[in-house]
Amino acid sequence: MSKCIICNSETNSLIDSQIRVTHSHCDNCGFIYKDKEFHLSLDIEYENYKMHNNSFESEGYVQIFVNLLNDYIKPLNINGKILEFGSGPGPVLKELLLREGYDVFDFDPFFNKNMDYLKHKYQLITSTEVVEHFVEPLKEFEHLSGLLAKDGYLLLMTRLRTMDTNEFLNWWYRRDLTHISFYTLKTFEEIGKKYGLKIVKTNNVNIIIFQKI
Ligand SMILES: [Zn+2]
Repeated sequence: MSKCIICNSETNSLIDSQIRVTHSHCDNCGFIYKDKEFHLSLDIEYENYKMHNNSFESEGYVQIFVNLLNDYIKPLNINGKILEFGSGPGPVLKELLLREGYDVFDFDPFFNKNMDYLKHKYQLITSTEVVEHFVEPLKEFEHLSGLLAKDGYLLLMTRLRTMDTNEFLNWWYRRDLTHISFYTLKTFEEIGKKYGLKIVKTNNVNIIIFQKI
């Protein structure tokens, strides 16, 4: 069997007959990774993202970010730069942050390829509904950690999976064909250990905040 791409432990194969894909599942950190042969091509991935209704026209979508801003971002008392990483076709969170007077940069590998964001260090990096799309999570987290200022925060929004693999095989979140990396809190702890990131807050559902130590 292959090794876990996060913690290097043994994995076992998880057959998902409903959506006809296989995943590798790590018994140690709980990371589940969709097998490479089932990853979408970049073109098809792009087409999928364009269809997402992620804009100010979607009221429910905007409310999610208003809540994130009020409940999680404002309490961090950020007064430096913020990076919205993976901001997508309609950068709602970026716009909300700008309206609050924050100094915001954004980057998206499909919709905003401006590389100027690499010139700065950030007091906060937000990445919402992004890390589940990562093909090479460690590489991405190393990159993000390297962009954080000392004591800076990395705020992720992604659905945490439970440790129960049967539940996973019935979970709506896995059905999105662009979702390939599924994390538990333990997975995030393993990632944090590698790149000097400590989990300082989580709602145990879909929001995780790391601080650079
Ligand atoms: Zn693992």
